[in-house]
Amino acid sequence: MAKVVINKEKCKGCLLCVSFCPKALFIVEEKLNSKGVKPVKLKEINDCVGCGQCAVICPECCIEIYE
Ligand code: SF4
Ligand code: SF4
Repeated sequence: MAKVVINKEKCKGCLLCVSFCPKALFIVEEKLNSKGVKPVKLKEINDCVGCGQCAVICPECCIEIYE
């Protein structure tokens, strides 16, 4: 399983990663970040395949994938 690191302070809540993840692993946090938006996070239990689509699609470069 790949490790996904999200920079929640940079996230602008556009939800592109939510749409593009083939495993539908992203959910929206309740707590606002310093930009005043609800950032995304991954589900507690996930089966990330490390495809990297979320990292490529994120316009703010918030997501890093580690194998
Ligand atoms: S690397 Fe792929 S499977 Fe993993 S969270 Fe990103 S889009 Fe989803
Ligand atoms: S694509 Fe990037 S900026 Fe948009 S919600 Fe996902 S992590 Fe946040």
